[in-house]
Parts: sequence; structure tokens; C-alpha cells
Amino acid sequence: MRRQSRPLKNIVIIGSGIGGLTTGIILQKSGYNVHIVEKNERPGGLMRSYTRHGFDCPVGIHYMGSLAPGQPLLALWDYLGVADKIPLERMGINGPIDRYIFDNFTFDLPEGIAAFEDNLRQTFPREQRQITAIMQPLKIFCDYFSRLDILLAPEKMLSPDNFISMGEYLDQTGCSPLMKSVLGVLTTLVGVPLFQCPLFFYYMILASYLLSSWRLRDDNGSQAAEIFADQFVSLGGRLTLGDMAQTIHVEDKQIKGIRLASGAAINADGVIAAIHPQTMAAMLNDSGLNPAHRERIAGLENTKGIFSVYLSLDSEAHPELPYNIYRLHPEEDGSLDRGLFFQLRKSHRPRTNVMTMMASSTIQEWEPWLNTRSGRRGSNYVEKKTEKTDEFIAEAAAIFGPLKEMAVIDAHTPLTIRDYVGSPDGSAYGIMRSSRQLLQTAFLNRLNIDGLFLSGQNIMAPGIMGTTMGSFLTARKVMGQKAFSHDILKDFS
Ligand SMILES: Cc1cc2nc3c(=O)[nH]c(=O)nc-3n(C[C@H](O)[C@H](O)[C@H](O)COP(=O)(O)OP(=O)(O)OC[C@H]3O[C@@H](n4cnc5c(N)ncnc54)[C@H](O)[C@@H]3O)c2cc1C
Repeated sequence: MRRQSRPLKNIVIIGSGIGGLTTGIILQKSGYNVHIVEKNERPGGLMRSYTRHGFDCPVGIHYMGSLAPGQPLLALWDYLGVADKIPLERMGINGPIDRYIFDNFTFDLPEGIAAFEDNLRQTFPREQRQITAIMQPLKIFCDYFSRLDILLAPEKMLSPDNFISMGEYLDQTGCSPLMKSVLGVLTTLVGVPLFQCPLFFYYMILASYLLSSWRLRDDNGSQAAEIFADQFVSLGGRLTLGDMAQTIHVEDKQIKGIRLASGAAINADGVIAAIHPQTMAAMLNDSGLNPAHRERIAGLENTKGIFSVYLSLDSEAHPELPYNIYRLHPEEDGSLDRGLFFQLRKSHRPRTNVMTMMASSTIQEWEPWLNTRSGRRGSNYVEKKTEKTDEFIAEAAAIFGPLKEMAVIDAHTPLTIRDYVGSPDGSAYGIMRSSRQLLQTAFLNRLNIDGLFLSGQNIMAPGIMGTTMGSFLTARKVMGQKAFSHDILKDFS
């Protein structure tokens, strides 16, 4: 780990997503003076839901793992002081967490490693040997993950043994394409295809959801965002909203502060960019970021975007579902380029439920509108969104039957996400943590500018769990291993 050459006291964090807020809370608790700057009028980034026609529309939290007592995300949220404030609902208690619907069979993802193994063995009776090979690493990774060892020694993950992709591993075991497609669904949650998803990364995601899966009660991501922001402010942290960081000021390879779009300057010993690295790179001039690093950052592959649709439906005909549905159309080799995610939840309106539908979508699909801004993209854009929404509705009707009292609440595209949180090309999960990019991304942790750090989903892994762990790792780098172990890790032992 690179050591800081000078003690840091005053820290500016760019971005108030769950990553920026988590890093801010940890450092504020540890005695730093932290100032978070957010370009939007409200904090929370992707964690925040939004309201349309009186309905809450979740954006970046549909479900997450490991929030039961003794489990890693709860331990981290407990440390932050938000665990008992965020209203949660456990999934998978009397049924599955996820139901995967394929053309001619269905697979249920249950809570618990043993139940998962049973389901696999029943669904694929001819692949007992392969299933044994799949379960062995799961048990090891589950222990590693549960003990939060990753916060102590993240380098362990970068052992060459873990560079192999889950897809390659399954090929080595002789796993059938159908079982590959079942196992591949979870990789869509982090935007990395099965054949590019590093083994350790795959098992962490699987372990995280199998340990226990949760969703926000009432789908209220805005409430969760406010709880994180209030916690940060109550610890003495400063939060500036509605002002965008424009430049990061570096002198002699040392951070001096940032300048905002309003013209205000904030002096700081440290800057933490809890935003996409490519957005950060654009804020540094050549004396700050050397051309080689700039080129490497520009060359990193991002995850794709997401197209999301929200429908209101009659709640008697379409009651709330305690699990998610994935409708999947795998290729012959088991890869999953096409698939739709459904979540059917209660709303505040009587007799009305809300269905969220999402599928991966590339920026190329929205190319004619690349140079437009939200709300001003024109009628052709609306037509294209309507066309795609109709395709989603047809898929929904095939699963749920005729959609009663159906109305479209809203739909958003990768361009919406691009403009909302400043994610290049509307990438949903930021830099792709693929096997082939593992080494290329390692340098992001060593930017050679004293006092500059990245945080959030781009530091280790996306998702609420990945972003939270990554933010703890950033705090570890800012504080140094000794102070981090002394001040923070003792709380987890
Ligand atoms: C559609 C979708 C669905 C998802 N579903 C799930 C899910 O069900 N479960 C799960 O675990 N994960 C899910 N995720 C992933 C998860 O939401 C993210 O990994 C996580 O929220 C990222 O947090 P972050 O803080 O790193 O980034 P962000 O939330 O993007 O925060 C970055 C913040 O920085 C701000 N910002 C950007 N540029 C500037 C600037 N120049 N100056 C000031 N502020 C700036 C942005 O406005 C934003 O508030 C989903 C993501 C998407 C897109």
C-alpha cells in the first residue's frame, strides 16, 4: 500500500453517492474535517429514488445482500451508524430471492448455501460432479467474505489464481450451457459477463446474496440517502449541494484543493473522487495527471447502461411479489446478452402496485441523442423510449398475464444516468471489473498524486456491498493501515 507522505486533515470528497457518503462518515468519525461536494440538488446519487406522478421509482437499489445480524454489510452499516435507521425487508424467507424464467424451465435462487446447492442438484441431476466443483470455492469465499478479511488484505484477491473468469472455470468443470446461464444471472448485477467475471468477484456476489437478501421497505432510496447524509452532517461533516466540482488543483504532485462551477475554491490536503475515474481525469490538468495515466484511464472499458421502465398496475390482479423475476433468453453457449429484470412492489396509492423492469442497454442505442440533455431530447427520443417500453410490456404480459389498469409511470435510458450522476456513457456500474482489466485497474489505487484518492463503486466493485467495501478501503488508504486497524477494524472483531 502506498504511504501518504504527509498527514492529511482537510479532505474534500467529490460526489455524495453511497460511496462518497460512506467514505465521508468514516473519515469524519476518525477526526478528519470532511467536506462533500455534490452537483445535484439532493444527496445520494444512484442510491436515491425519485418521484413521478406520486410514485417512488427506485434507481440504483433494488436489492442487496448480507444485512442480517453478524453479516458483513450490516457490520459496516452499523459502524457508520445507519443500520438501525434504514427500514429494510428481508427477501427469501418463505420462498425464493430470485426466480429465473427460461423458455422451458425455471430456477429459484433461495437464501442459504445449502438450499442453493440442493436446487442446483435437483435442477441439474446429471451434473453432480460439476456442482461439487462449484460449491467448494463458494464455501471458502463465503468465509473470507463474512470475516471481512478483504478489508485487512485486499491484495489477496489479486492472486493470479483468481484472475480466471467464472465462465472459464465452469468450462474446466465441464458444466453445461444451461447451468452456465443459471449461474451467469448474478453477473448481470455488476455488469460483467460470466466469461469476463473474475472468480473471486463472482463468488463474493453469490455469497453476499445467499447469506441473506434485502430490499428497502417502501422502495424509498431517497430516505436511505437522507439517512446517510444526515449521519455525515451530524458528525460535523460539511455537505454542499447543487455545485459541481470542476477542477482539482495540484501543485508539485500534491493536492491543494478543488474549484467548483460556482467559482468557489475549497482548499484541502486531500481530495477523494467518489465519481467515475474518467470524470476525475477530466478535472486534472497535465501537470496533475501524467499523460500515461490519463491514457490508461481513458482506455478502461466501462460496464453497459440500463434501460428502466416503471408501470402502475392494479394491485389485486398483480399483488406484490416477495422475490424478483428474471426473464432470460440465453445464447447456445449459455451467455446472457438478453434478459429482463422485474420487481413488483406496493405503492402508496390504494389498489396500485408498481412494476420496475430493467434490461441492459448500450449507449450506441441512444447515439442520435448523445449531445442532448435530460428533458430536451425531442420527440424521436420519446418515440424510441415508447417502442422499447412496449417491448418490455409485452414480455411482462407473457409472464404476468394481461396487465390490468396498466399505465406507464416513467422510463429512463443510459443517457439519463449519464446526466444524473455524470457516469461516462451512462455506464451503470462504472469501470468493468473483468478478468482482463484486473491488472489495468490496479493502478487506480496508485495515482502518484499525494492526497488524491478514488472511492465509490470504481475502487473495488459496484453494487451497494462492493461500493461500501471499496469506500472502507479508501478510508484505509487515507488513514494508513495502522490507524485504520486501530480505529476501525477493532469494531469488527
Ligand atoms: C439502474 C441501476 C440499478 C442498480 N441496482 C442495484 C441493486 O439492485 N443492488 C445493488 O447493490 N446495486 C445496484 N446498482 C449499483 C449501485 O447503485 C451503485 O454501484 C452505487 O450506488 C454506486 O455508488 P457511488 O457512490 O459509487 O456512485 P454514484 O451513486 O453514481 O454517486 C456519484 C455522485 O457523484 C456526483 N457527481 C458526479 N460528478 C460530480 C462533480 N463533478 N461534482 C460533484 N458531484 C459529482 C453524482 O451526482 C453522484 O451523486 C444499480 C445501478 C444502476 C445504475
